[in-house]
Amino acid sequence: MKTDFQELNSLINTAGTIVVVSHLRPDGDAVGSLLSLTLSLLAAGKKTFPVLVDGLPQRFSFLPGADLVQKQLPASWDLLICVDCSDFERTGLGNEVLQKNPIVNIDHHPTNTTFGNINYIVPAAAAAVEIVYDVIRTLHLPEDLGVRNNLMAGLLADTIGFRTSNVHAGSLRMAADLLDQGAELSKLYEQVLNQRTFAAAKYWGLGLENIQQRGNLVWTSLSLTDMQASGYREHDDADLINFLSTIEDTMVTLLFIEQPGGKVKISWRARDGIDIAVLAERFGGGGHKPAAGAMLEGSLPEVQEEVLSATIAYMNAGRN
Ligand code: 5GP
Ligand code: MN
Repeated sequence: MKTDFQELNSLINTAGTIVVVSHLRPDGDAVGSLLSLTLSLLAAGKKTFPVLVDGLPQRFSFLPGADLVQKQLPASWDLLICVDCSDFERTGLGNEVLQKNPIVNIDHHPTNTTFGNINYIVPAAAAAVEIVYDVIRTLHLPEDLGVRNNLMAGLLADTIGFRTSNVHAGSLRMAADLLDQGAELSKLYEQVLNQRTFAAAKYWGLGLENIQQRGNLVWTSLSLTDMQASGYREHDDADLINFLSTIEDTMVTLLFIEQPGGKVKISWRARDGIDIAVLAERFGGGGHKPAAGAMLEGSLPEVQEEVLSATIAYMNAGRN
């Protein structure tokens, strides 16, 4: 691991231009990791570009450095750093990019495919920002309030306010350190986890209207028509899946979101030690034991039928 850091250090030192990239449909951890590392590298005097192929979700536009995010790669670069991406496809960048220049892969998904030249994967980390924080500290990269607020935002987002089962003492120590050094915990908590737009609340409502239950399984779907009707324009689920997973006596929660171009995005949440990432991988996706996702081709009813029956079979197999 020490050699990795030395190599990472020399890659950063010798690179003229650095690109930092995170995943499609970016969540708070993706954005927090991207912006904290970018701001730190910029403060270190490195020419750095943060890239999100889907663009920055409007609800994260308050984060320091948000205005720097671009949807496309610059004409050239010397080092590409991927954060919070379990496989290269998650970046949304073309495969030709894989052939170019060194790639550093910083992630916390157990399903990570180790696609980088340097892979710094810590599955025990509750959020990718924990690993970014470690990199910043170990390499003595600069930290300021912008860096710290982004780290805190990522930590709050991925742990839903320190509620997920992968939160460990180190997550809380990191939050305490950041708080000690000025990170605005309560303000970020409100902005990252509590605030939602009127359109997001309407989108939620349409999803809740169709909620269904079978034994310990709860699911619902959101169609493109629902998106139109609500006026919700973001790429995410407006946090609906996390709300569904609070329904009592539920072991697995499923959300189907129809996408443009004949695709359906699936989100799973699981309890009681069920490893739902294994099931997501069967559909070409990935994630963590209690939270995973995948993108499937097909119409909403087709995908729903296929994935529901596979999920029920998976739950039944676990019971035997
Ligand atoms: P969500 O359901 O909130 O989109 O994602 C839950 C978890 O699964 C996250 O850790 C996310 O990175 C991962 N995930 C979601 N969609 C995909 C996907 O299409 N492919 C992979 N590999 N992981 C995904
Ligand atoms: Mn994450």
